[in-house]
This record gives sequence, structure tokens and C-alpha cells, in this order.
Amino acid sequence: QSQQNLSVTWTQYTRVLERQTRATVATTHELRQAIERDELMLYYQPKVDLASGAVVAAEALLRWQHAHRGFIAPGDFIPLAEQSQLIGPIGEWVLRQACSDLRAWQDAGLDVRPVSVNMSLVQFQLGFVPDIVEKALTDFGIDPHQLTLEITESVFEEHSDLLKEDLRTLSAMGVKLSLDDFGTGYSSLSYLKDYPFDEIKIDKSFVWQLDDGAYGRAIVKAVDAIAVAIGAQIVAEGVESAHHGDVLKELGCTLGQGFYYNRPLPESQWRQLLSL
Ligand code: C2E
Ligand code: MG
Ligand code: MG
Ligand code: MG
Repeated sequence: QSQQNLSVTWTQYTRVLERQTRATVATTHELRQAIERDELMLYYQPKVDLASGAVVAAEALLRWQHAHRGFIAPGDFIPLAEQSQLIGPIGEWVLRQACSDLRAWQDAGLDVRPVSVNMSLVQFQLGFVPDIVEKALTDFGIDPHQLTLEITESVFEEHSDLLKEDLRTLSAMGVKLSLDDFGTGYSSLSYLKDYPFDEIKIDKSFVWQLDDGAYGRAIVKAVDAIAVAIGAQIVAEGVESAHHGDVLKELGCTLGQGFYYNRPLPESQWRQLLSL
């Protein structure tokens, strides 16, 4: 009888779920083929010295050029890749492509800057990350210092001895570690001392709050103090205006990344920037 009061019937709910499941299964299937079909590509977004405007590094950002749907942003397929564990092979492809690109720029005699690669927690859960990284570096003859791994802060909400061990191994290899989207996780800060971070990236939501005055400034100053305390560099994400850049500089922040300087660039354009 109570079912009679529902405004949506069970059949309707079931249909919605079925449609969603079918869409997810279809996209996962296509994602599986994306590597073989050469549909994945890396874009590079410059990291800039706020004072001089000099380009000091780049972040590799994954794009999926789908045969029919055009460019798909990572936010729309990375979660699917994580659920299906396809992030294993996809993450390894990203790492090897970044190393292969570094090799090509070096061989072309360009003034090569270090590259950051984003890593998902699921990759660490699947295991072998230090081995995969070491093999990529060796296969392409890349100096470990040229590679930075970015790991989102929210990952540290859960304490994981395995992750800690992997990050220490990677750091000992000479690979740099960056704490991404800092300030958006709900983790206690006590984990910071256990991990050898070389860089902290202030999440763009805080940079954007610099437009509203005191709150954003206080956050940036606080993150800067934390970075100094753990001996890490600080990078501001999402710098979208000259004003953002100026305030960040005034607050002691040295590096920034954002649309004001450059959008993520296809490899050919990043290469041109290196040859300037
Ligand atoms: P993220 O690592 O925090 O990367 C920064 C994101 O902010 C990028 O979005 C970039 O395009 C965007 N961005 C940079 N500057 C600005 C700005 O001034 N304004 C605005 N509105 N946005 C800006 P994108 O490329 O869509 O990537 C989104 C997220 O997807 C990344 O966030 C990262 O978490 C994830 N991701 C990207 N590539 C990979 C990858 O190869 N592997 C993994 N596991 N995750 C990836
Ligand atoms: Mg990142
Ligand atoms: Mg980020
Ligand atoms: Mg962010």
C-alpha cells in the first residue's frame, strides 16, 4: 500500500539505474580501448616563477580524444578509470609518455624543464608504483630529478603504511613529490611530517578567494608557513589574473600555475615554449 504513494515507481528507478549502468559499462569498454587506439594524450601546463614570469616546470594533464565525443576532460573519466582499475595501465601510459616526451625534448637539444605527473591513490593500491616509475626512468634515460609526482591531499585522509613506504622509496630514488590541491582534504596536518614532500600546491579555490580579501590572504599565508616548516616549495594553482599573481607574490609565494599565464598546451606548443 505504501508503494502506492511513491511518485516514481520501482520500474522507473530501475530503468534509470540500468541506463546509468549501461553508459558506465560502455564508457569503460571504450576507455579500455583508448590506449590501443592512441586516443590518450598529454597536455602540458607551465609552472611559472611569479616574479620573473620564467617557465620553470610543467604539469602533464591527461586528455582523451574520443572518436565521436571529442575531447573528454580527466574529471569525466579518471573516476571511471579508478573504479574499473583501468587507472593502472592508463597511469603507467601517462608516466611513460611523460618520460618519452622528456627524452624527445632532450634529444632535440631543448632547455628541458621538470615535468609533474598526477598519481591516483588507486595506482598505489594496485601496487608496484616504484618499480613502474624506475622502469620508465631507465627505459627513457631520464634523471629522476626531472620527474615530480603529484598526489592529492585527500589521499591522506586514510592512513596507509604502504603509501608511506612507496613515497619514501620514490623520494629516495630522487623523484620529487608534490602535495596537490592542498587545503581541500579533511585530513589532520600531522601526516605532513611523515612524508617527504618537496612541493605543496595551494588549491585554486583559495587563490580565487584572494578576490574577496582577508580570508584568502590568511589561507595563503598559513599554507606558506606550513611549506616553510616542512622545507617544501609552494605553488599556487588557478592563477587567473594579474591581481592573483601580485597578491601571491606579496604574500611570499614564488611559483604559480594558471590560465593567466598559460592554459594546458598540446605537446607541440609546450615544445615551442621550451625553444624560446
Ligand atoms: P589537478 O592536478 O589539480 O590539475 C589542475 C587542473 O586545474 C587542470 O584541470 C587544469 O587545467 C586546471 N587549471 C589550471 N589552471 C587553471 C585556472 O587558472 N583556472 C581554472 N579554472 N582551471 C585551471 P584538468 O586538466 O581538467 O584536470 C583535472 C584533474 O584531473 C587534475 O587536477 C587531476 O587531479 C586529474 N588528472 C589530470 N591528468 C591526470 C592523470 O594523468 N592522472 C591522474 N590520476 N589524474 C589526472
Ligand atoms: Mg595536479
Ligand atoms: Mg591540483
Ligand atoms: Mg586543484
